Amino acid sequence: MMVESTDMALDGLYQEIILDHHKDPRNFGPLQKAEGVAEGFNPVCGDRVEVEVSYGPHGEIKECAFQGEGCSICMASASMMTEEVEGLSKDEADDRIAAFRGFMKGEGDETFKDTDLESLSGVRRFPVRIKCALLPWTTLKDCLSK
Ligand code: ZN
Repeated sequence: MMVESTDMALDGLYQEIILDHHKDPRNFGPLQKAEGVAEGFNPVCGDRVEVEVSYGPHGEIKECAFQGEGCSICMASASMMTEEVEGLSKDEADDRIAAFRGFMKGEGDETFKDTDLESLSGVRRFPVRIKCALLPWTTLKDCLSK
């Protein structure tokens, strides 16, 4: 697979966290009652992801799940994202999406410090792969705006 060279080049610890999410993705599969659904596709790598959300009584994200297939970076990013945004209001989630986009550009390291998402900082060195990491987040944004 074309992803291997990048994966191998990532930092040992970071690589472990990413591969763990890839092997054992959190919140993978359809929601029982999805209230928002969006699909995203990254033609450069072939990543496909579908994001689903359900909302709580105050409009907060009650559940966020994803399905799809793609490289380890895309799948791991999706898995980490679903954990990150659970319980957030739409505005908070939008902020987090913007923060992650910035993070991939090299900004805001403190926002994701000590979270699993921090492990994706190594992806910055591979500009082509940044799209892989961002795909679930842009798809979530789509999903929230519907
Ligand atoms: Zn990819």
